[in-house]
Amino acid sequence: MTGRLRLAALAAAVPPGARTRFAPAPTGYLHLGHVANALVVWGLARLAGGTVVLRIEDHDRVRSRPAFEAALLDDLAWLGFSADEPAPGPAVSGRGGSPAAYRQSDREARYRAVLEALVAAGRVYGCRCSRATFARWREEHGRDWSGPGCPGGCRGLGLPLEPRTPLRVAVGDGVEPYRDLLHGPGAGAPDASGDVLVRDRDGNWTYHFAVVVDDLDQGIDLVVRGEDLLAATPLQLRLRRLLGGDPARLVFVHHPLVRAADGRKLSKSAGDSGVRELRAAGWSPERVIGAAAAAIGLLDAPRPIRFEDLLEG
Ligand code: GLU
Repeated sequence: MTGRLRLAALAAAVPPGARTRFAPAPTGYLHLGHVANALVVWGLARLAGGTVVLRIEDHDRVRSRPAFEAALLDDLAWLGFSADEPAPGPAVSGRGGSPAAYRQSDREARYRAVLEALVAAGRVYGCRCSRATFARWREEHGRDWSGPGCPGGCRGLGLPLEPRTPLRVAVGDGVEPYRDLLHGPGAGAPDASGDVLVRDRDGNWTYHFAVVVDDLDQGIDLVVRGEDLLAATPLQLRLRRLLGGDPARLVFVHHPLVRAADGRKLSKSAGDSGVRELRAAGWSPERVIGAAAAAIGLLDAPRPIRFEDLLEG
């Protein structure tokens, strides 16, 4: 029996020949949440005649590790998933890894160029607010910071844009509409959490910045990810618009998250439901796929199943 989430029904609304991506951060091992995401990414691509790009989101240089990257790619291959398109790999970056995976740490020059364009457009400002500044504001006001800027009013300070200065982009007001094939059409304020941080105090590009630049450059038109990122969608679409991209080109599928037994979101760092552990315990790829499929409603109950058979259901 198939579950309540129907890939075939979703695929019917996907633009034919869509380009989508699987984009893990190499800050831990592959877990059932990734597998569930991979089932929807490759499932919709197969059903809609699309292409899957593999992207290693290693923008966080402190937490990313080559060993995690290698393990993620190995677990993915064991499950039968691979990129449909070669990317500029070791030959270009001079580093190891999969020649089929784009890697954010290879794109420093591009991110710098994009930042410079935003600086030239007068959108970038140095910010001295830390997480603690936002937390203090929350304590004092009983809600999260939202609206233009940041709690410290840094946009008006004209701080010099030095390498160690956290940088924000003024996203502006209004709303950004989005199209989500599961949640329906929606719209939201891009500044619901204030202006977006694009580079942190350690010089790391942030997730929001790198993902928007990459989706634009890599010609992505279908974004499949967990529903915890639905709220960030208007912000990312506004950033895309500021970079000259067309927000209407992107179609989203924000699917349910795989929860741990106690209801928490799975996290790579907590070692939850790691594919490594399941493999070591003797699970087959089909059993892992069935467990992940059931966890997000692609199957009514866990049972070993081949990916191809899941698509037929
Ligand atoms: N690297 C992100 C993650 O692992 C991907 C999020 C996205 O698809 O935008 O959650």
